[in-house]
Amino acid sequence: MVPIDITTTSDSRLSAWHVRRALRWLSPNDLAGLGFIRLMDEEPDDPEAQKEPAYLRGFLYNGRYLRKGKDHPAHIALYTSDLYLGMPRFLKLTPTQTLRFAFTLAHELGHHLIATRGYIYKPNEKYKPWRSGTFDPHEEKMADTYAEDVVKKMCKSWYYKSGKLLARIISRILFEVGVGEHWNGNYESAARWNFNAFMINPENLDAGQSYRHDMEKFLDGQQPATFLNQRQPEQSHHCGHTH
Ligand SMILES: [Zn+2]
Repeated sequence: MVPIDITTTSDSRLSAWHVRRALRWLSPNDLAGLGFIRLMDEEPDDPEAQKEPAYLRGFLYNGRYLRKGKDHPAHIALYTSDLYLGMPRFLKLTPTQTLRFAFTLAHELGHHLIATRGYIYKPNEKYKPWRSGTFDPHEEKMADTYAEDVVKKMCKSWYYKSGKLLARIISRILFEVGVGEHWNGNYESAARWNFNAFMINPENLDAGQSYRHDMEKFLDGQQPATFLNQRQPEQSHHCGHTH
């Protein structure tokens, strides 16, 4: 089993438990060469981003893959404050939450496969040569596909299937609260609820659209610079792979 290095200040045992459960679904061959998985509260290289709530940022920092360096082996960092975002406290022990950890862990493992053997599924896959700070949308898409395959495999069991169902229910409830806030004219609050709803279930496209709409309403008359590019909310992995 890949060692787990815990540096989080809250929910550390719980997070390690989710990671251990997720690891069972990853192929030992694919995990070869991965030195450890580090649990951190927040992405350390963007302190500015942590000052504003995630719904103003428009994306989550869920994890990052770090290539082997002079002084460290290849490893994955997972950022727990964003991984739990929007999840009601009493539901943090559910399979829904394990699926969130599993998706991000598998996505980052996809980057590890590309970094170490050059491909995820077939040797003829092509990626941009890696340089510090580069971002390859094709690589992101392939890492997502790999993560989706892992989650699909997990969801063949009733336990994780129920986690997926629960994600839909929680997301729907948060979305309904967001809709209520929208009709009351509380656009900032509506944006926050809808953002969380979309992050818990990215298939809830109504929540994603409402989030964007509410942000536009909220920022109308505010300083729009805080919401860069009016972008779509991004599930997941602003993973930067910069190391
Ligand atoms: Zn990525």
